[in-house]
Amino acid sequence: MKYIVDHIPLNTPNKRRSGIGMNPTTITIHNTGNPRSTARNERGWLTNPTNQRQASFHIVVDAQEAIECIPLHEVAWHAGDGRGDGNMKSISIEICESGDYTKNIEHAVQLVAKMLKERGWGIERLRRHWDWSKKVCPRLMYGEGTWNAWESFKVQVRNRLNEQIGQAAQEQAVSSWAVEAWQWAIREKLTDGNTPRDPLSREQLMTILYRYHKKYGSN
Ligand SMILES: [Zn+2]
Repeated sequence: MKYIVDHIPLNTPNKRRSGIGMNPTTITIHNTGNPRSTARNERGWLTNPTNQRQASFHIVVDAQEAIECIPLHEVAWHAGDGRGDGNMKSISIEICESGDYTKNIEHAVQLVAKMLKERGWGIERLRRHWDWSKKVCPRLMYGEGTWNAWESFKVQVRNRLNEQIGQAAQEQAVSSWAVEAWQWAIREKLTDGNTPRDPLSREQLMTILYRYHKKYGSN
């Protein structure tokens, strides 16, 4: 996945860059509301001189790329709740409606799962624009016939997140050829058994030798 950081300038009109520091606690999902605009187009709109609105967002994603438009530790104006927790504490992600929408969603799932994992968060941290201010947004995940699209999105994110967590656990598991020695070393209290694949420092080596010597050495 291509992730591009292309922040709009601090002096962008209409205070679209709030300059207000943020310690985010949730991620808010939006649809762009425009069936034709790409991520590039949406980023361009934020600095288009004819744009008179204050509204802004952190990240926009389509099938090609994700573009970060505002730093993730700065307030963006996306939730319609004034100084509420939507604007003040949530990272906003705009999902494009153009092109192959299924691919846009796949890409968004990847992005959101990665962001949750990096922060140690679960899908209970996900919000819709609707949750903050009852705007029908993300509009393709909301409404009579499409209500389930939101639940389905969350399930996809959760599955991807579980995959990533499983992978990380696998990477930290003892290799099959080392299992016998590793279990012996734990039994003999030469190691606490953590992080088997990490490199060994000189001081750790000496500590292991020292423990071994104390246990088996003759002097
Ligand atoms: Zn929205």
